[in-house]
Amino acid sequence: MGEIMQRKKTSSVCIGNVQIGNAAPIAVQSMTNTKTDNVEATVDQIKQLSAAGCDIVRVAVPDMSAAQAIKQIKAHKDVNVPLIADIHFDYRLALAAMESGVDGLRINPGNMGDTEQVAMIVEKAKQRHIPIRIGVNAGSLDKEILAKYGGHPTPAGMVESALQHIAILENLGFHDIKISLKANDVPMTIQAYQLMSETVKYPLHLGITEAGTIKSGIIKSAVGIGALLAQGIGDTIRVSLTGDPVEEVRAANEILKALGLKEYGPTLVSCPTCGRCNIDLAAIAVQVEEKLKTFHKPLKVAVMGCVVNGPGEAREADIGIAGGKGQGLVFRKGEIIQTVTEDQLLPVLFAEIDKLIEEEQ
Ligand code: SF4
Repeated sequence: MGEIMQRKKTSSVCIGNVQIGNAAPIAVQSMTNTKTDNVEATVDQIKQLSAAGCDIVRVAVPDMSAAQAIKQIKAHKDVNVPLIADIHFDYRLALAAMESGVDGLRINPGNMGDTEQVAMIVEKAKQRHIPIRIGVNAGSLDKEILAKYGGHPTPAGMVESALQHIAILENLGFHDIKISLKANDVPMTIQAYQLMSETVKYPLHLGITEAGTIKSGIIKSAVGIGALLAQGIGDTIRVSLTGDPVEEVRAANEILKALGLKEYGPTLVSCPTCGRCNIDLAAIAVQVEEKLKTFHKPLKVAVMGCVVNGPGEAREADIGIAGGKGQGLVFRKGEIIQTVTEDQLLPVLFAEIDKLIEEEQ
């Protein structure tokens, strides 16, 4: 596995039992899109997110009923991941969410009420060791900051906004902080996080906000989050997609896997095909990918179009196949172990994968 450059040192916070920052493994987050007070639906989605590899789940708390529902959600026997309450404007919701046992808050203290009300949140968060994420969004910078930076969001404006919120918490003696600076513009997001990481020691929550639907959103998120992680910046990530949040979790884990920051199930290596390929490799690769979804081990499987370069190109794979004319090869670690007819390539590969997994148990 390739190695990423050294991660930047930060302070750390604990969301429930998940440490973030100070070189802890990069945690994957997602957010439910159910009505939080629909406890059954929310618990069901939290279970799906957790099974897909989500370390922390955020829930929207738009009203008191949602804040109170957190108590039942937290108490559910199948909910084992820490929960964060996402709250805007109403300090009473933050107090109620903490009383319901939430593990983290996502609030912007400058928008939560007057100084006394923010102090009440901070006091309770201190007592309960509940960290606060300050989440600056380029789309909702306040008028003074926008005016200062030419009327448009800029990386410096986003950082300045975060620093104002940070100052409110620090002045109340609160330092259990993490920060996000999200924009839907990838270069702006990257620059904002770079600037922030040079400015403060708090752990950073990475994300490209409103990134789009599954396909375009994954590309934007992978580029933005990946570029930052490759510079050692970022302590927890969320991929934001318009769609099933389980896809967010898969994408986030795949980003970490691609950078060598996490082992996350099997990896499919498949060639792009060229004029040497004589089998329907695309269809085979899709079927292999489906099969691999049923495994959790970090197995590397290669699906190559031809015998000329296939096994050699995929030497690092644990197991694989290479197509030929009417037949193909099955290989392990670059060594050919069987020659089979084309129609037997997939069944033999699947049998060999099962064997390999059994051997490793
Ligand atoms: Fe072409 Fe063979 Fe390489 Fe696939 S493995 S790209 S078919 S040379």
